[in-house]
Amino acid sequence: MGESIHVPLASLLPGLAASTKENPPGSNPVTLPGRTFYIETFGCQMNEHDSEKVAGVLLRRGYRQVVSPDDAGLVFYNTCSIREKAAQKVFSRLGEFNPKNNAGRESGKVIGVLGCVAQQEGEEIFDRAPWVSLVCGSASYRKLPLLLERLESGERRVSGLETDTEEAFETELTRRNHPFRAYVTIIEGCDKACSYCVVPYTRGPERSRDSGSILGEIRELADVGYTEIQLLGQTVNSYRDPSNRHLIFSELLLAVAEIPGIRRVRFMTSHPRDMGTDIVDAIDASAALCDHVHLPVQSGSTRVLRAMQRTYTREEYLEKISLIRGVRRPISITTDFIVGFPGETERDFEETLSLLHLAQFDGAFSFQYSPRPHTAAALMSDAVPESEKLRRLQVLQERQRAIQVQRNQRLLGQTFEVLVEGASRRETQWTGRTSSNRVLNFTSPRKELLGEYVQVRVTGAGPNSLTGEQCIEYVPREAADGS
Ligand code: SAM
Ligand code: SF4
Repeated sequence: MGESIHVPLASLLPGLAASTKENPPGSNPVTLPGRTFYIETFGCQMNEHDSEKVAGVLLRRGYRQVVSPDDAGLVFYNTCSIREKAAQKVFSRLGEFNPKNNAGRESGKVIGVLGCVAQQEGEEIFDRAPWVSLVCGSASYRKLPLLLERLESGERRVSGLETDTEEAFETELTRRNHPFRAYVTIIEGCDKACSYCVVPYTRGPERSRDSGSILGEIRELADVGYTEIQLLGQTVNSYRDPSNRHLIFSELLLAVAEIPGIRRVRFMTSHPRDMGTDIVDAIDASAALCDHVHLPVQSGSTRVLRAMQRTYTREEYLEKISLIRGVRRPISITTDFIVGFPGETERDFEETLSLLHLAQFDGAFSFQYSPRPHTAAALMSDAVPESEKLRRLQVLQERQRAIQVQRNQRLLGQTFEVLVEGASRRETQWTGRTSSNRVLNFTSPRKELLGEYVQVRVTGAGPNSLTGEQCIEYVPREAADGS
């Protein structure tokens, strides 16, 4: 398992023999001919952002990004293993490079598996897909330059699988995919121990970044024109500043909101246990902090929450909802649910439906429970049959859809500020998001709107999005009042 087969990489990738001395850390990215990479990401926004940083590392080393694996010398899959289906997808992608499926021909590419599947399966990936050359979990990304160097100097198989790190993954260069919204990881890993979840195993222990480094990065982002920042972490609100400023999460939020040029600050994902009054008060006080909180509940039954080791009861979660709904500013709340956790009875599920009704979420992601390796729940008996999981999922999704239609219809006639993120093929159609993270598709006679903040009046409401028209004549209230 994991033996090193030495095949000079230069013979696989023209141009790869270039010395790393030509491209020392800190130098400007130089593209060397033939050094091309493709990266595909599965899973959450944290993975999306990790891929942006990995792309930055590669660009720094002189690689050029391409949009198709066919054109790439280096093909990386940044993987997700949160549910079994997500993990399976990666192996089907890897299968495309199996020489057996290509009349015995090697693809001539260097294939790398990054992220959660890499961490979970480890070097066994080399046994399952011997044409893979690199396996690296997210807690080892800071070692990527070294691993790449080893590949470039001829090693055929390299891996980075340690999780016992206290460091976060800092890069000199990040290749951001979104032109207006920049993701910024503030905390990596997870120290909670939800019994169904593979993340603490795949992403390692919780590591918060130094607040100075976070704020410095965001100032640079503002300088190059980003106006919306999304702070990321598996439990983003568990942030604890390791620097001697010792900022707590709400203080960090307010500090980010004050950076000149930053108009919107989002954060994801919050753990209910660490959602305190200070965070809600900060959102209430600062218009730059978006009026949206994603607060996964997972179940409405305290019995199931206990088995999930979520560290709160149904009542405590509902108190958090009251706290958020109790401030002056309307704050939208979205959540995650898992149905069919081992031992979940019909009565437990009814409690989930009643919580759904009481909480009136603005959006919800819901999943059928999927047993994951290395988790406590994988050893639990009393599995819910797959057909019953599916039935519960459908009931929950139908109820939530009706709630969303109702909640969105209340917004008809209201005007919202929208950050314009896309244009449709029809010239007058645009799309963007409100501060509350609702998608608003709207019409405007204007030709250039991408990246702008515009006022849009809502004229239609569906379960997942709103429609509207731009208020061209809009005058901000303060200006109209003369205040
Ligand atoms: N850190 C977040 C939190 O504390 O809620 C969630 C992270 S996880 C990437 C996103 C969602 O995947 C979870 O909220 C949960 O609903 C779902 N999930 C995690 N493990 C799961 C499993 N084994 N089966 C089904 N869904 C799962
Ligand atoms: Fe997984 Fe729980 Fe950590 Fe979220 S808080 S990443 S669900 S262990």
